[in-house]
Amino acid sequence: MDPLDIMTNINKVIPYYQAIFSADRQTIIGYEVLGRIQVDKDIVHSLGSFFQDETVPDEYRLEVEMVIINKVLASYTKGKKDFLLFINQNAHLLLLDQGEALLELFLSYVPNGLKLDNIVLELEEHVYKGDIEHMQNLINYYRTYGIQFAVSNIGESGTNLDRIGRLSPNIIKVDLQILRLSYEIGPQQDVLFSLAVLSRKIGATLLYENIEASFQLQYAWRHGGRYYQGFYLHAPGPEFLPMDYAKVKLMEKFRHFIRYEKRKLEAIQLLTEMLQGKVQHLLGKFEIREDLDLWLHHIGKAFSDISFRIYICDENGFQLSSNLVKIEGNWKMQPEYKMNNWSWRPYFLEYVMKMRLERKGLLSDVYSDIESGETVRTFSYPINHEQYVYIDLAYDFLYEKEDLL
Ligand code: CA
Repeated sequence: MDPLDIMTNINKVIPYYQAIFSADRQTIIGYEVLGRIQVDKDIVHSLGSFFQDETVPDEYRLEVEMVIINKVLASYTKGKKDFLLFINQNAHLLLLDQGEALLELFLSYVPNGLKLDNIVLELEEHVYKGDIEHMQNLINYYRTYGIQFAVSNIGESGTNLDRIGRLSPNIIKVDLQILRLSYEIGPQQDVLFSLAVLSRKIGATLLYENIEASFQLQYAWRHGGRYYQGFYLHAPGPEFLPMDYAKVKLMEKFRHFIRYEKRKLEAIQLLTEMLQGKVQHLLGKFEIREDLDLWLHHIGKAFSDISFRIYICDENGFQLSSNLVKIEGNWKMQPEYKMNNWSWRPYFLEYVMKMRLERKGLLSDVYSDIESGETVRTFSYPINHEQYVYIDLAYDFLYEKEDLL
């Protein structure tokens, strides 16, 4: 729609609301406010592109925004509501007057019952190109009134964890659109994962948005998502909904996710026990002596259909044996790997400590192998205090038992 058409029809501009659900009680904890224009009785257009179009004069966008927020706050206070209102803000526009006009608007509704700590301003981190310190100052100023902040639109790319960390938002909104196709491990998952880690570190609540299918909700649930938003749960509309609008659906989904997760954990437990029993049996049969490669050779035979690589390290991660590697179906010794150090690998020392203390084998999480690029898991077992055997499990084997991936 032409910006001038919007300005001449500014009285037809209305807010739409998309509900945000909380995992704790499966109820609505708030709404994101979205701009719409009522073109005809049954026709409503989004104002999304109008707000994002930088060729539209700032005054136009600010004026339309004020109309929308006014309407939101009027119906919110009139209905004596007490949930969160997520209001999108363009950081550049907000900074034009240091946020004064917007703050005044909020303050004018306080006598009508508006609690400022129910306001969450949503900023798109990558849209703002200016000095991060200005942004920080404004955020701190607003915070003195109790107003909260969310950073959004960081799922896709250009993820700038350092900047997000410095803004220290109350809520991080992660876009799950990049998980459109499947539930497989991909590089996007690493981006998503680092956002989850960051939010935990800075104490921000994780909100997953654009949830459009069950597997995305499952991803959100598995990865620390406390708040959920998306068409799968609610399509934006002109009204506020009952708090328990999606409670039945969410509870049913959670039950399903929990069941699935437990089955997976059980499969992991069973496999760990099976592998442990097997290694223990082999240790009884073939005593480990100086020639570690000879011992690996015996072990390799027993793990031929499961593993593609086996080796022994000491407790500091120095490889004591050769690599026993499956190449075109046959085991081959690679002595050049002796004395390589693996202590730098994630969780390596943590796992060694655990094995020492518990004197039990451990199954790693699923990860991408550096050399083959395949999705693998590693079973490790403490032979004694100085020697630990690592058995890398082949993708094909894990794939056959789907609960293990
Ligand atoms: Ca938004």
